[in-house]
Amino acid sequence: MDTKAPISGDEDIAIRIEKVKARMRTAIRESGLAAANPMLVAVSKTIGKNPIEVLLRHGHKIFGENRVQEAARKWPELKANYPEAKLHLIGQLQTNKVKEAARLFDVIETVDRVKLAEELARFRDRNGICPALLIQVNTGCESQKGGVAPEKADSLIQYCMSDLKLPVRGLMCIPPVDAEPSLHFGLVRAIALRHELASLSMGMSGDFEVALAFGATSVRVGSAIFGPREKRREDDM
Ligand SMILES: *Cc1c(COP(=O)(O)O)cnc(C)c1O
Repeated sequence: MDTKAPISGDEDIAIRIEKVKARMRTAIRESGLAAANPMLVAVSKTIGKNPIEVLLRHGHKIFGENRVQEAARKWPELKANYPEAKLHLIGQLQTNKVKEAARLFDVIETVDRVKLAEELARFRDRNGICPALLIQVNTGCESQKGGVAPEKADSLIQYCMSDLKLPVRGLMCIPPVDAEPSLHFGLVRAIALRHELASLSMGMSGDFEVALAFGATSVRVGSAIFGPREKRREDDM
């Protein structure tokens, strides 16, 4: 008889996210700087709807995607079935996709230039809605990466908050792959403190414990939860 075995991959995902949460708790306990209750953003880029739904059924609510088009394919249906789900945009946003992104995402973590901020403000003025925003800082000054250069971060933050009155809640960074991440986390933390910004999105599968030790209020974890992704050029950051 052709009985279907339980899909073991599903259980693995639930087990793995619990392991990540346990590691987060340990890191928080061991650090004096750690935020009390940091958020875990499950990064579901390249991952199909079924594994995502396993996590939603498991009770996880916060997800990150790096491409507007991919999120637009996957999430309207998932959000309809799980209205409490929250979606973060963690990839670069083109100004011509602001309308779509502003409706689809609850948080946009990658505001990094005046033109994009102005487009978000224009959308807000016309439609009365704006997701919560983070400013992405390119702490490693890498040309292939999004993010405002560290020396321009203060003026962009100021412009977004004071002039455009955008709901900027904090900062985000992605340290260079081979760099010691703590220097980057410390820099972003210092900029956030200057502007009294509460949210710090930093730390991925390889360095989220370090990020928590530097006060991250949100970590973005993909492969430690879903397993390794197939390589895609855009993910090669
Ligand atoms: C892919 C991605 C992550 C998650 O990376 P993992 O190493 O799989 O945890 C986090 N942040 C951003 C911006 C990403 O693009």
